[in-house]
Amino acid sequence: MHDHLPIDNGAAARSSITASLARRLPEKLASLAPLAYNYRWSWEPGGAAVFEAIDAEVWDRTDHNPVRTLVEARPEALERAAADSDLVARADDLVATVEDDLDRPFASGFSRDQPIAFLCAEYGIHRSLPVYSGGLGVLAGDILKEASDLALPMVAVGLLYRHGYFHQRLDIAGWQHEYWIEADPDLLPMVRVVDDRGDPLAIDVPVWDRTVRLHVWRVDVGRVPLYLLDADVPGNNPIDRFVTSRLYEANRDLRLAQYALLGIGGIRALQALHLEPATVHLNEGHAALGALELAATDLGRGSSFEQASKAAKQRVVFTTHTPVAAGNETYAADRILDVLQQLPDRLGQDRDGFLRLGRINPDDEHAEAGMTPVALRLSRHVNGVSERHGEVARNMWSGLFQVEPDDVPINHVTNGVHLPTWMAAPMRSLLDRYLEAGWTRQAADPQTWAPVAGIPDGEVWAARCEAREQLIAYVRRRIARDRLARGQSLDYIERTLAGLDPEALTLGFARRVAAYKRLYLLRSDPDRLLRLVGGERPVQLLFAGKAHPADDGAKGILRSMFEFKDAPQVAERVAFLEDYGMASGAMLTMGCDVWINVPRPPLEASGTSGMKSSLNGGLNLSVLDGWWGEAYDGDNGWAISGDVDHNAGAQDARHADELYGLLERQVLPLFHNRDADGVPTAWVRRVKGALMTVGPRFCATRMMQDYARDVYTAETPAATRS
Ligand SMILES: *Cc1c(COP(=O)(O)O)cnc(C)c1O
Repeated sequence: MHDHLPIDNGAAARSSITASLARRLPEKLASLAPLAYNYRWSWEPGGAAVFEAIDAEVWDRTDHNPVRTLVEARPEALERAAADSDLVARADDLVATVEDDLDRPFASGFSRDQPIAFLCAEYGIHRSLPVYSGGLGVLAGDILKEASDLALPMVAVGLLYRHGYFHQRLDIAGWQHEYWIEADPDLLPMVRVVDDRGDPLAIDVPVWDRTVRLHVWRVDVGRVPLYLLDADVPGNNPIDRFVTSRLYEANRDLRLAQYALLGIGGIRALQALHLEPATVHLNEGHAALGALELAATDLGRGSSFEQASKAAKQRVVFTTHTPVAAGNETYAADRILDVLQQLPDRLGQDRDGFLRLGRINPDDEHAEAGMTPVALRLSRHVNGVSERHGEVARNMWSGLFQVEPDDVPINHVTNGVHLPTWMAAPMRSLLDRYLEAGWTRQAADPQTWAPVAGIPDGEVWAARCEAREQLIAYVRRRIARDRLARGQSLDYIERTLAGLDPEALTLGFARRVAAYKRLYLLRSDPDRLLRLVGGERPVQLLFAGKAHPADDGAKGILRSMFEFKDAPQVAERVAFLEDYGMASGAMLTMGCDVWINVPRPPLEASGTSGMKSSLNGGLNLSVLDGWWGEAYDGDNGWAISGDVDHNAGAQDARHADELYGLLERQVLPLFHNRDADGVPTAWVRRVKGALMTVGPRFCATRMMQDYARDVYTAETPAATRS
């Protein structure tokens, strides 16, 4: 590529940091220092257990942060670990496995000189890296991990939010309160990229009437470097320093400035790193200004705007995730022209010419402008995230493209989840015994999963029971703490702890609390809910989710779930887990028997948590929307109708009735229909069906193979409809 890189892209800075960490460790553990700076350990079976074994207390206290665990481990813990020959051998194996993985050549058809640059506002890589809020970020994290596994040459760019997304606490009435925790990047598994003098690499971005300076941090996600841009640097004024403070900042001007830093700053950072991406993948509209920055760079070299935007369009691909027009934020002209005031000139456009790029109908001078239209106009390929969402998106954007919906150039790549991250130990170790060695690398092939049919029912059931037991043990620890902090009585807490039952049918519902997700359906018929959870055959319901800080309607829904908290059955059998995130998400999707999802169709673009549940042998009970519309085969879970009804109240009543009807008449009897050994064989048959149908089609391997084949390597705009 370049024989001499004028700047260090982070690799050398990382070597010097890991070398100094290694010197502080006992010699036998020194090889863990570089490992701590690459999240690749997090998806190797037994990877987390190695760090945990060094100092479990520090590991838990630091949210499983490997760097802090090595730095803060007590000396006696380090000595004990170094003397534990079994642990040292496991650590050496882990290091060797990761090194071999990083040394593989790139996938055929791709070259390191022409990487795919992935731009996204949030990344859910691991619980210890708090730069994500939910589904979009977790998907982005899964994409990077799978690109690494498939040896695709990907580099990623995002923002370093020092305060991340908010944390959630509920008061005793069930009302949500938010708080933020500041992360110190020097204690996270990331290094600051430096220039050839050893000073922090500086990226300057024109925002407002000035220049905002960014520093760049590098996080290694297997083979994929993730560059996080940070405006909290000396020299920036206090407002500018705050721009990258919080994910999805409520102040709209600051949010627009974030989009400028992500899009414009992202492209400039890649240029400064001498990375020349063949493809720039905008994951959701937040990074759309990146396409304009590519064009502005060409303009600076003498192209016309038409030539430059056409050239940019040849390189940019866009994934849209938002199935409602209102979800695609728009801004009044004066707000855009204030924050992005330097951009029209750089593009050789007058103000109106510039605003036209962001309006659905460019001629409508009164319409607000947003990022999504920019991305739609400047991408050679646009896709939604499920088959149905592709269709919804074609309808939604036919006005912008000025063609009939069927001819709108948007297709779909259905989301998938990163199997090694989301299939937890109980199911993973069972399948490792019955499927072929190295099976996870062939996970997108249905044949890989065929042996699942022959696994003895009792073993599948034992794995399910183990997963549920681990979940209930976790929930007991969590809710004791949450409820004490909320001010519940000791008596109440003791009743809850006694009530939770590791053998009871466990229903899970965890996701963002937004009106369209309809959490309230679960309580729309209180008598039926109380009969279900208080019946002779025990049922317990675990739920979790954050409401957006500015969404009082959603907070009201959450509070309304607490109205029955004093009914005895509810105190004992219904539990809310505060502060939903990747850690609790993994536990819930691992252990719940039934994963409930009741979005209002067609508003669920895809959904991915249900896929995680299936990979662990959970059964989905979901509205036929998003991914479940593609996955449900009559036998691998349960379905609630997915048709659109403009009478929301009538639809709610019907769907609540379908939900309870299925739970009462199908789910509960099937769970309790046991053979002589106590195994619910008909249930287990469904579990196997879920693994074999969802596993190959909704793993991230299938998703990234689709992107590699249909999106990244396509030279010309893809045909409409796939
Ligand atoms: C998988 C995941 C999501 C996505 O959830 P859906 O409701 O299915 O979209 C959100 N948050 C976390 C923490 C997750 O792990």
